[in-house]
Amino acid sequence: MVVTSTSGKVRPIDSTVLKPRARGIALRDIVTPATTLWYTVSVLYSDLGGGELRPRKGASDMSRWLLPLLASVVAIATMRPAAQSTALFSFHSSPWLNLHHFARASARGGPAPAGLSDAESRQWAAGVEFYKPYAARDLLFDDGMVDVKHALRGAEGKASLDGIAIDAGLKDTLERLMPIYRKHMWPEHERLNRAWIAAVQPLLERHGTALSQAITRTYDSAWPSDPVPVDLSVTAGPNDAYTTGPPTHVTISSSAPSLQGLAALEILFHESSHSAVSNLFQRVRQAASEQKVSVPPQLWHAVLFYTAGELTTRELKAHGVAYTQYAGPGLYANLCGAGCREKIAEHWTPRLDGKRSIADCLSALVASFK
Ligand SMILES: [Zn+2]
Repeated sequence: MVVTSTSGKVRPIDSTVLKPRARGIALRDIVTPATTLWYTVSVLYSDLGGGELRPRKGASDMSRWLLPLLASVVAIATMRPAAQSTALFSFHSSPWLNLHHFARASARGGPAPAGLSDAESRQWAAGVEFYKPYAARDLLFDDGMVDVKHALRGAEGKASLDGIAIDAGLKDTLERLMPIYRKHMWPEHERLNRAWIAAVQPLLERHGTALSQAITRTYDSAWPSDPVPVDLSVTAGPNDAYTTGPPTHVTISSSAPSLQGLAALEILFHESSHSAVSNLFQRVRQAASEQKVSVPPQLWHAVLFYTAGELTTRELKAHGVAYTQYAGPGLYANLCGAGCREKIAEHWTPRLDGKRSIADCLSALVASFK
C-alpha cells in the first residue's frame, strides 16, 4: 500500500491508516521531551518567586551559559503547541469494509460491476443474493450490522478474514467475492478513497484546529483524546455518511458528489459531533421534557447540522472563502418542519456567538415549538 503523505512525499505503509498532522512536530511528540527539559532546568535553577528563574547558588560556570540556553530551548518548545495541532482524525481505506458496503448496495439494486468473466459473474451474483437479507438491514440502527462493520474494521490490511468474528456464511461470501472485487473494482474505489483523504488534508491543516475548538467551545465539551477514526467507503448507505459509537467511528462515502471539496470539512465535524462531543440528543430531549414540549424527533439533528454548517462557514469566511452549507432548506424542513431552520438560527446563534448558555438556548428553542 502506498499513500501520499501531507508533505507530498510518497511513502509505503503496512496498514491503510493515514493520520493527517500539522506540519512539523505534533503536540504529543514534544510534550514529553519539553516536560523532561523543563524538569532539568527547574532542578538546576531555583524559583525565586513570581515565576522568575535564577541560577542556584554554586551553579557552575558552564551552567551560567548552558542554563539560559536550555531555558530558551524550553521556551521555544513550550510555545510550539500554540501553533500546532494534534491529529483530529485517522483515515482508513479498507477493502473489506468497502466490499461489505458495496455488496450490500449491489443487493439493493446498485450497478453490477462490468468486465466480469462468466464464472466471476456467477460468483458475484451468488454473493449479491446472499447479501439480500443484509441489504434490508439498517447500517446504523441495526446493532448486528454495526457489529459486522466493527468486526471488519479489524481485518484492515489482512488478506483473509481469519479470526474476524462474523457469521460464517458472511465470511465465506466476502472471501469468495474479494478476488473479484480486488481485480475489477477495488483499484478505482481505493483511488476515490485516497483522493478524498488527500483533498481534505490541507483543509484540516488550515482549518481543523480552529473548527474543532469552535465545535467544542459551542458544546462545552472536549475533543476525543485519540483521533476520530474515519473509514472512506465507495458507498456508505442512504445518507452517504454515518457514525456509530461509542466508541465513535465514522464512515463516509468517497464517491458522493455532495461530500466533495469544502463539504468534506463540514461532514467530518458533523459526523464526529454525533457523539459526546455534542451530546445534543440528550440535551434537546432534556430541554423538551423540562417544559413538557413535544418537539420534532430530529430537532437535535437539525441543530447539529446547523452548528457544523455555520461554524464551517464562519471559519472559511474568516479566510476569505465563500461556502454553501451541506444542508439546505429542504433538509431542515424534512428534519424538523417548516420554519425550523429559522427557529434554530434565532435561538441557537447566541450559543455559536458564545453569548448564552447551551441550556438557555435550547430552552428557548424548545419553547418555540409550544
Ligand atoms: Zn448527522
